[in-house]
Amino acid sequence: MRRPIIAANWKLNMLRQEAHDFVVAFLSELNNPTQDASLDIVIAPPFTALDATRQALTASNVALAGQNLSFESSGAFTGEISAEMLRDAGCRYCIVGHSERRSLFAETNTDVARKVRALLEADLQPIVCVGETLDERESGRDQAVLAAQLDGSLEGLEPEDTRNLILAYEPVWAIGTGRTATPEQAQATHAFIRNHLRAGPLGDQAKTLRIQYGGSVKPDNIRTLMAQPDIDGALVGGASLRPDSFARIVRFDQPENTPS
Ligand code: PEP
Repeated sequence: MRRPIIAANWKLNMLRQEAHDFVVAFLSELNNPTQDASLDIVIAPPFTALDATRQALTASNVALAGQNLSFESSGAFTGEISAEMLRDAGCRYCIVGHSERRSLFAETNTDVARKVRALLEADLQPIVCVGETLDERESGRDQAVLAAQLDGSLEGLEPEDTRNLILAYEPVWAIGTGRTATPEQAQATHAFIRNHLRAGPLGDQAKTLRIQYGGSVKPDNIRTLMAQPDIDGALVGGASLRPDSFARIVRFDQPENTPS
């Protein structure tokens, strides 16, 4: 049984006061999430709002994540943040290899693999993102692209690392576009990812790997996505910026008039 994990990726948004106010409103929407042991909830603020978010989350079971890190542990790397610094700031997770970092900041699979290693060594859990572009999907190259991303980004991983690893399938064409993969498309790709890792570095441990879907997840599509057997959670961008909408997502809410 894989425990669901829903994560908010705030990207380049939220000043400290806004992060504080979000958490207060979100926790009150959820009605005491300390009692809810049925899923993991994670928030990834920008670095500058980590501490304000951590303080507001005290006494809840909502965990903190970084959005990025350096694979270096210390030294002359101006502007960088290490895994140990993230742990020191109260993080339990960190997003790695998001498509925005791959496409806008030239992050390679080799960089991602080094970041994954740095996080695991610091006892943090990487949320490793993979996903194909629209062109790659429409030309039938999606599985080859995903396989190369998985092999490169997870290079050196051992089966026992699985319990500290989260994977996020985020089709690039669905991120921030309002266009979501259908539950069937997402399920087929999640099954492909799991089978690929099962045949490769993770072996049978791949059955226990949690794979999130990301790409225009909203309150009105979360339930059908989560009903798919290989979808174990969601990585949420735009819809995680409002406490009411993120609360509805973690409750798998549907609008009242939508048949379930
Ligand atoms: C993301 O950036 O990880 C993401 C899934 O964004 P959105 O939910 O806005 O598509």
